[in-house]
Order: sequence, then C-alpha cells, then structure tokens
Amino acid sequence: MKEDKLAINNGPKIRNKPFPAYKVIDDREIKAVEKVLKSGILSKFLGCWDPAFYGGPQVQALEKKWAKYFKVKHAIAVNSCTSGLYCAVGASGIGPGDEVIVTPLSMSASATSILIFNAVPVFADIDKHYFCLDPKAVEKKITKRTKAIVVVDIYGQPYDVQKINALARKHKLYVIEDCAQAIGATYKNKFAGTLGDIGIYSLNFHKHIHTGEGGMVVTNNDQLAEKVRLIRNHAEAVVGDKGVGDLVNMIGFNFRMTEIEAAIASCQLSKLKHLLTKRVNYCDYVARKLALLPGITAPAVRKGCTHSYYVQCFKYNEKIVGVPRHKFIEAVKAELTATKGREKEGVRIVGQGGKPLYLEPLYQKMIAYGSRGCPFRCPWYKGKLNYKKGLCPVAEKINDEELFQLDLIHASLSKKDVEDIVRAFQKVYRLKKKIR
Ligand SMILES: *Cc1c(COP(=O)(O)O)cnc(C)c1O
Repeated sequence: MKEDKLAINNGPKIRNKPFPAYKVIDDREIKAVEKVLKSGILSKFLGCWDPAFYGGPQVQALEKKWAKYFKVKHAIAVNSCTSGLYCAVGASGIGPGDEVIVTPLSMSASATSILIFNAVPVFADIDKHYFCLDPKAVEKKITKRTKAIVVVDIYGQPYDVQKINALARKHKLYVIEDCAQAIGATYKNKFAGTLGDIGIYSLNFHKHIHTGEGGMVVTNNDQLAEKVRLIRNHAEAVVGDKGVGDLVNMIGFNFRMTEIEAAIASCQLSKLKHLLTKRVNYCDYVARKLALLPGITAPAVRKGCTHSYYVQCFKYNEKIVGVPRHKFIEAVKAELTATKGREKEGVRIVGQGGKPLYLEPLYQKMIAYGSRGCPFRCPWYKGKLNYKKGLCPVAEKINDEELFQLDLIHASLSKKDVEDIVRAFQKVYRLKKKIR
C-alpha cells in the first residue's frame, strides 16, 4: 500500500500544502498606526527631567492598559525584552562581585542581563518534568554573594513560584521573572510576570503577541519601577535635576519604545486572550493524541498553573520507541511542509531542547568585556565560577537525548492543520521499523 511508505523513503507525504503563517496584525493595528503617523509624533520621549521623560501618549496609554490587564501596579514599555531584563537587573542594584542564579535553559539574554552590570551568572540545574529552575539546585548555589534569581517561564509555563519565592524571601534575594515565553500563563490565577519582584515580557515578532520588536516590564515595587524608568531613558542625564540620591546603576540606556509600537501593542493586548485560548486548545489536543504513542510524553503542567505553549515540548524515550530521536523527528518533518513565509526554516519541529547557555564560547572562554576576563575575573569577585560541561546534568541530558519541540502550533492554524501534524506522528510511529 502506498500509505505504508514513509515520505523519507520516497513515499507520499501526509501534507504537501504549507502551513498558514501566524498572522495577528489586521485593520485594527493598521488604523492605529495610521493615526500615529498622521499625528507626526512617532516618539515623545525626552532624555531629561521633564514631563516627556515618561514618553508620549501612546506609550503612557499602553502602560496603563497593560498594568490593568495584568493586575499589577507598574508597567513600563521598553524596546525589547532584552532591554527590559537589563533594566530589571540594573534596578535591583546588582553589580561587580555579585552572583545571580539563572537557568541554563533559556534564550541568551536571560544570562547576559547579569553580565551587563558586571555581575556573574551562576547556573543552576532545571527540573526534569517542567524544565524550569529546580529549587533544590538553586538552594545549593546560594552564597553570601547571591543577589537575585533570574527565573524563566520556559516554553510558556510559570516557574516553581512557591518554592523559589520562599528561598528568595529567606535569603533576601530579588526574583526577576523572564516571562518572554509565558504571556497570559497563570499561577493560582495570577499572571506570569507578576509572580516575582519584577517581570519582563517580549513583544518580538516570534512571541504570542508582537510589535515587531518590543518589551514590557512589570512590578508592584515603586522603587524598582522608578529605577527601570531611569535606566530606560538616560538615567545619568536625569538624576541630577530629578534629585535622585542613590546613583547605583544610574547609567542609563536608550530603551524607549516608539509611539508606533505602543499603538500596535495596545491592539495586540486586546487579542491576547483569544489567541491564547485557541493555541492552548490545539496543544491540548496534540498532547492527548501523541501521549497515546508509547515512548512519547506530553508536557507536564504544574499544579495551579496554566501553560501558554510558546513551544510545546515532548519527551522522547529512544529505548521505548526503538528509533534515535533525530531520525524519528526527521521522518515526521518529511511528512509535512514548512510554514508560509518561513519556508527556509523547514518544518518547525526541533529534536532538542536548546543547548545549556554555559556551553557557549562566552562562558567557556570567559571573554565578555575587553580581553581580560571581565567580569568573570573581576578583582571584586571572590567566588569560584564553574561553566564546565556536566555542570547541569538534567539540562544537558534533556537537550542531548530527551526533548523535542513542536514549534508549529498557533492560533492561525485550522483544526485540519493540527490534525495533519498528529497524523504525521502517527504514521511515522506506525512505520517506525522502516526508518533507516
Ligand atoms: C524572546 C526571549 C527573550 C528576548 O526577547 P527580545 O524581546 O527579543 O529581546 C528573552 N528571554 C526569553 C526566554 C525569550 O524567549
């Protein structure tokens, strides 16, 4: 039978049609941007102590709307999540000699935000079920130099709020929540981003809602909020006239969001709930179906949490399936066709979880600022750093052997599109003995 031949063995594919692109921009955004363009004011920030220090009408309206939606006191618009992370670390007063504990399983900026202020990242291992920082591993890494924990709501699920927050309270550490992947996810009905001391969202093109590039910082802490606003907008030029006494980390940047992005972000926020509901329903369906295949385990959702499935991560057990992970994934990808507009990226299923950050050359060679090993070998730093392979065995094992990421599922797909993805897995599983 023809259907009994895998596409990798020159059989027919399950699907020849490209998947539809994730498209969330429509007339609402176009009208809002047109209004800004016609006003002629594309940004209203001034980098001095003046009412315009806090930005223009679109930026301020977005900040109000964001704070209300996420039930948090302050929301501060920035031009990326990366800049927002820099602001958060700077506002926390972190500097040379300090350690900040961070997960190795994240996007690079979760850790470079620490280096930017000349502190050093200390990587703690992850939990093997939820892939976020393991509180026990974190506790072992706390020293008298530790100032904060950067938690990442990786793949779209909140970190272990109860245990990590308890550790932070006990040792007087800030919890900086990188919720770039988890917008709209919740823990006990509180939104990701508002679970620690300060949280940072991303509005880059790849995230659930986007403005091309952009980010938002949220906090209930007035002091942190004001420092974030200063770092966002040339702090050093403002502190004198504003009468700021504490000069720690008051070297500012230009991380200002434009009026155009702010106008888009307001429209996007209104769509979040709908986009998320559709995505989560699809992911739940795929999880139910793939979990029926022995050796494939659906993502675990922690008690009290909802997941936003920025990516849907499954665990793969090579011993049970009987086929190496990468070969199985290649066979599934061969059954499908890429996403429109992202054809060159191929079918967006990745047979790994992401390389632990400390294995990157930056940490392996300890070269960041200049060539002298700053800040890793800074004389103020009295600890001993370890970025060796084997440092976080769970993160390494998951990446090397266990995880695959389904990066395909979003709200612009139809149920039929999602069914095709499931059918590709089912077909490959049924014919797995034919994989060479
Ligand atoms: C996307 C992402 C970032 C960076 O976001 P930008 O807005 O592109 O700077 C940071 N952390 C995580 C976990 C991310 O997924």
